[in-house]
Amino acid sequence: MNTSCAEMINWQREVPMRYEADIAVIGGGIAGVSAACAAAKSGAEVILVERFAVTGGMLTTGGVANFCDSDYLDGLGEVFDRILADLKEWNAIGYGKKSCFHYEILAVVLQELLLRRGVKLLLHTRLVDCVVDSSGRITEGVLCGKSGPEALRAKQFIDCTGEADLARAAGFETIKGGSSGYQLPMSLMYFVRHVCSDEVELHLPDGWFNPVERKEKLPMTSIWPDGPGANALKVKIPMYDSTDTESLTSAEITARRRMIEVLDYYQRVEGKSWHLDHCSPIIGIREGCRIVGDYVLKVEDLRAGRVFEDGVARGTYKLDGHKPDDEGRTYILPKDKLKVPPYQIPLRSLIAKDGKNVMMAGRCFSADQLALSSARVATSGSMMGQAAGITAALSAKKGCDPRGIDPEDVKEIVTERHGKLA
Ligand SMILES: Cc1cc2nc3c(=O)[nH]c(=O)nc-3n(C[C@H](O)[C@H](O)[C@H](O)COP(=O)(O)OP(=O)(O)OC[C@H]3O[C@@H](n4cnc5c(N)ncnc54)[C@H](O)[C@@H]3O)c2cc1C
Repeated sequence: MNTSCAEMINWQREVPMRYEADIAVIGGGIAGVSAACAAAKSGAEVILVERFAVTGGMLTTGGVANFCDSDYLDGLGEVFDRILADLKEWNAIGYGKKSCFHYEILAVVLQELLLRRGVKLLLHTRLVDCVVDSSGRITEGVLCGKSGPEALRAKQFIDCTGEADLARAAGFETIKGGSSGYQLPMSLMYFVRHVCSDEVELHLPDGWFNPVERKEKLPMTSIWPDGPGANALKVKIPMYDSTDTESLTSAEITARRRMIEVLDYYQRVEGKSWHLDHCSPIIGIREGCRIVGDYVLKVEDLRAGRVFEDGVARGTYKLDGHKPDDEGRTYILPKDKLKVPPYQIPLRSLIAKDGKNVMMAGRCFSADQLALSSARVATSGSMMGQAAGITAALSAKKGCDPRGIDPEDVKEIVTERHGKLA
């Protein structure tokens, strides 16, 4: 079977122009939802495009179900405040740790918030291509949902896909990985229920996979509480590329095998009465592909707790750079070098260098690998999304592009909306 890319074919067809909005947000993770909600609050017409059945991205379909930095859950902007308040009202947060939540409820909370704000939501719809002119302006995105390929026209686009799908389709400059050449490792999240020992537990049949006999032989495994009588397990799967079809396929296959091997170890060797409840539908991706922006946020900026003239969001989490080429509990930096002071994220790192009307937020924003290892978490992702949404809405209203917006105006709105920048 030939799976090389040596030959190119030319593919083109006419596509119905079905959707039009001021702002198109591509990707409905925490960054995309926050961007869409913030833009809608500013009065913009917003369409959010999400390839899966629910929004929330890594936090829901990736099973992450936890907010970091749990010491800084205040001052993250009104969208995050609303999400937190709704989760609390549902009694769906605070499982063992104050920041662990029920991710199925988060999915409901996010969709209802989007709908209340008047955001048009397209689910099961993937952005597959775009039309970009020679100045770097994206005029239309090409979507593919169950109705087939259709176009979405917007004044401003925000790429919140995590893998920079929009920017890559436009041919903009992107970066991935760090000095090892690999992205931060993926991890699979799965969930077990505690059962009485006389209840039936699933077990690994003889001859399947590679049973693990000693704890030191396990891949890095973290175990979290997941509500009453249940745990979440996180198993590290390094050295795969989330932007390559075959590599991502291999990662998912390996991850499901490792899930079973780890579960088998805990049942058989440690005697845990754990029954496999479910596995998240997609492997957890820490780093996909970052879009090169007008500024690339650097680890030195984080270490210095840098304040920027155009600082529109804040990060607080440690440098969580899991070693990309090792499945153990190892980090790129020594343990005493992980902590950083609160730092700012500049507006320029949310504007695509090669684009006119393209911003980004969340784990595909413009940063080096170690800076991303901190700023990728849900809290700063939400703040970046809100800042991008506010900027895009100002641009749509003024009839200019994000570079025509005074960062002071964005900062003022971020602050008014309960975002702390220092
Ligand atoms: C294993 C693991 C553990 C983590 N632990 C924590 C933690 O404890 N606390 C914390 O705060 N953070 C944690 N993180 C990080 C955090 O979960 C993510 O970085 C963050 O949620 C990313 O948000 P995002 O919106 O940038 O991207 P994502 O959540 O990845 O959202 C991207 C969205 O875009 C959609 N999409 C992608 N491509 C397309 C396309 N072409 N068309 C349409 N839609 C598309 C996806 O389906 C997805 O919904 C963890 C991450 C991992 C992987």
